[in-house]
Amino acid sequence: CGIVGYIGKRDVAPLLLEGLQRLEYRGYDSAGIAIHAKPAKSGQATHPTGLKTAKAKGRVRDLEARLPKRFAGTVGIAHTRWATHGAPNDTNAHPHLDADGKVAIVHNGIIDNAAELRAKLAADGVELASETDSETLAHLIGRSQAATLEEKVRQALALVEGTYGIAVLHADFPDRIVVARNGSPVVLGIGEKEMFVASDVAALVSHTRQVVTLDDGEMATLKADDFRTYTTEGSRTSATPTTVEWEA
Ligand code: GLU
Repeated sequence: CGIVGYIGKRDVAPLLLEGLQRLEYRGYDSAGIAIHAKPAKSGQATHPTGLKTAKAKGRVRDLEARLPKRFAGTVGIAHTRWATHGAPNDTNAHPHLDADGKVAIVHNGIIDNAAELRAKLAADGVELASETDSETLAHLIGRSQAATLEEKVRQALALVEGTYGIAVLHADFPDRIVVARNGSPVVLGIGEKEMFVASDVAALVSHTRQVVTLDDGEMATLKADDFRTYTTEGSRTSATPTTVEWEA
C-alpha cells in the first residue's frame, strides 16, 4: 500500500515513521521497517553491521512502540501493508527477507504468479516465512548469482508477473536502495546529499519538492548523493527532476 525509503546522513527510523504517517490516510493493516544498522560504537568500523527489521500489525505507532532501543542507521525502507495475500499479522507485514537475511524488500501490488513461484522456491528447499506473494521477490533477489544488486533485481523481476512498486536493500550493497515500478507508483525525492523514495509525494514534500516519477518498466538506484534511472532491460532513461507544487 505505502512505501517510504531514505538514504543520506540523518537517522533514518524517525524519518521513515514520519513518512509512513503521511501515508496513513490511504488505509493499511500493518507496518514495518528495515535499515542498514550502524555499528554500536563509532570507531574503526565504518561498515554497517547488516539489516535490522521491525514489523507490527496495526498502526504506525504500534510499529514505533516495537522498535528496538538501538535502531540506528542512515539507510532504510518502510511499508504500510494492505493485505491481498495472507492475513494481516506481524509475519506477513513487510519488509520481507530472503533466506540469508541479506535482502529486504517492501512491495506494493500483486504478484499474479506467486503460487507458482512459492511452489518452485519450496521445491528448491526454501522455507517461506510468510503467506505473502511479496516474499517470493526477496528470495528471488537473494538467490540471483548476478554481481550487482541492480542485476539481481532485474533477474528477479523477469520471473514475476503482476504489479509492483518495490524498494530493495541488500546487506552487501549498503550504499544504495534499488527501486522498480510496474503498475504501482514510485516517486523519487531528490535532496541535498540525501535521497527519498515513496509511493506517494505526500510522504516526500516536507523534505524536498524535487521529484522524479518512475514510469512502468523503470528502475532506479538511489545513493546518498546520486541517482540514476533505467529500464528493466538496463538501458538508461532520462530523469530530470520536476518541482512539485503542494499546499501544506
Ligand atoms: N500483495 C502484497 C501483500 O499482500 C502487498 C499488498 C500492498 O500493496 O500493501 O502483502
